[in-house]
Amino acid sequence: MKLIEAVRSAGVVGAGGAGFPTHVKLNAKADIFIVNAAECEPLIETDKYLMRTFPEELIASAELIAAHLGSKKKIIALKSKYKEEIEALSTAIHKVKSSFELVQMPSFYPAGDEQILVQFVTGRTVPERGLPLHVGAVVDNVGTVLNVGEAVCGKPVTDKFLSVVGEVEKPMMLKVPIGTPIKECIDIAMPISSEYDFIIGGPMMGKVHKGEEVYNEFVTKTTGNVIVLPKGHYLVERASLSLSSIAAQARSACVQCKMCTDMCPRYLIGHDIRPNQIMRNLYKEKVICENAEYERAFGSAANCCDCGVCEMFACPMGLSPRKVNGYIKSQLAERKISPIKNQSPQVREDLKWRRIPTERLIARLGLTKYASLHAKEPCKEYVPKSVTLYFKQHIGVGAQACREVGEFVQKGDLIAVTGENVLCANLHASISGKITLIDSEKAVIIGSEE
Ligand code: SF4
Ligand code: SF4
Repeated sequence: MKLIEAVRSAGVVGAGGAGFPTHVKLNAKADIFIVNAAECEPLIETDKYLMRTFPEELIASAELIAAHLGSKKKIIALKSKYKEEIEALSTAIHKVKSSFELVQMPSFYPAGDEQILVQFVTGRTVPERGLPLHVGAVVDNVGTVLNVGEAVCGKPVTDKFLSVVGEVEKPMMLKVPIGTPIKECIDIAMPISSEYDFIIGGPMMGKVHKGEEVYNEFVTKTTGNVIVLPKGHYLVERASLSLSSIAAQARSACVQCKMCTDMCPRYLIGHDIRPNQIMRNLYKEKVICENAEYERAFGSAANCCDCGVCEMFACPMGLSPRKVNGYIKSQLAERKISPIKNQSPQVREDLKWRRIPTERLIARLGLTKYASLHAKEPCKEYVPKSVTLYFKQHIGVGAQACREVGEFVQKGDLIAVTGENVLCANLHASISGKITLIDSEKAVIIGSEE
């Protein structure tokens, strides 16, 4: 079976971030293939664990992808501080005589943002709202590359590695079926208090949840990390602010110091994104009728990648340009304004002096006490009694159920299929058992083969 068809059939999506369906991304030719192993968000352990544990599988799968893409340059980009992982990969590369190069990056945020990574590795800047492919590169992260290797061997995506860290007695790596309740993952790591809040993903771009939401969250194909936090933690308080309070603060407290713009990673690679100007113009946002005027005042928000540097690190007044940008982007879409994209942005000369050291970011986020407590124990495998599988775990449209309530399925059976010519991914049973519920959003399987 061709690689693309195998990947499509196995339901592979980007294992981190937004979960772009991989068969669509790999339907291309590219000069450069980059394995994104930078794992840029603080406190996430997953890709490092995978590199240490499966270095040969990673190299073998990366070689398959590079051959498929026709890439002459093959790179694994990771941080120079990942000593054990560099050793494991170097040994694997030598053993199989691979021509993959390791590019070592300093520890800064957001080193793993695709566009920042491509600029660092190749010196080429991806156009505004463009793709790495526009400058001849394809980027996949470590988990995705490993899933492609499994797909080629006929194994669909059914399980997920994730780290559980933060306010727990046993920070750990877990391997669980997709659809496992997040509550059960947290319980295994033993939360220090029964009263906690939590983040799914990293502290910068992950989704912050109040403790009571833990019963409604399940592991998806993109879940790579869970951070347990004490009640009232700074990150939870920040995330709880309403848009109206954020806008009121912005109008009254922005001192136009411009730090949000000067430190914005996308601004620094040459994109037109100027959060300070958006904050300055916010007072007139509700009264602008003309789209051309609205675009002049707010159009650059379209280039925001939601990295959070402006609000979590740069702003001395504790304001939230990122959330304002999020709101403005929704207004641009409503007004059907699509600002012109600069196709050949030029890197700004301050770029390398304005990178944010990860350790300083961790301190700013109030997470230092968890940074050295990472998963030291072997990965624990856990299978829950039931799983809840969302039909849409990725960008695009949800898969269509192809089973009925009451049917018994085996782990790996297809339960929802992608349509033709849509951005979508197949979905497979992650445990064996009986389907007890199918609705428009999800299927529930109870793990019993009777
Ligand atoms: S979140 Fe802030 S720092 Fe990040 S891209 Fe958007 S404006 Fe720039
Ligand atoms: S960093 Fe904060 S205070 Fe300074 S311009 Fe940006 S939003 Fe305003």
